[in-house]
Amino acid sequence: MISAVEVVIVKHTTLQPAETGLDVACDVCRQSTCVKDYGPQFGTLQAQWGLGSMHDGKRYEVRLCELCFFRTLSALSRERMVNTMFDEFPDAEREGFGLIGPDELKSDN
Ligand SMILES: [Zn+2]
Repeated sequence: MISAVEVVIVKHTTLQPAETGLDVACDVCRQSTCVKDYGPQFGTLQAQWGLGSMHDGKRYEVRLCELCFFRTLSALSRERMVNTMFDEFPDAEREGFGLIGPDELKSDN
């Protein structure tokens, strides 16, 4: 079993069977994640804990609207800044925290 905690941005182009209708509600603010003419746009905070972890065998998934996603990301970035502020080389770069690359899902228009 893989032990991993990750924050990923997911652009849904197809709806999963569990989804009702055409929308996905944010798990934090309960607002629609649907963008007019484009469909649901949300990020996912997920974890699948494995052997050796305190939460072995538990899986988590929280779907976040754009606002809640970036509030969460900002809080995590702030936490990282606090955790590294007394390091020899403090982590000064907060702008791209969590960003793993260019948006390969972005459409051409
Ligand atoms: Zn939200």
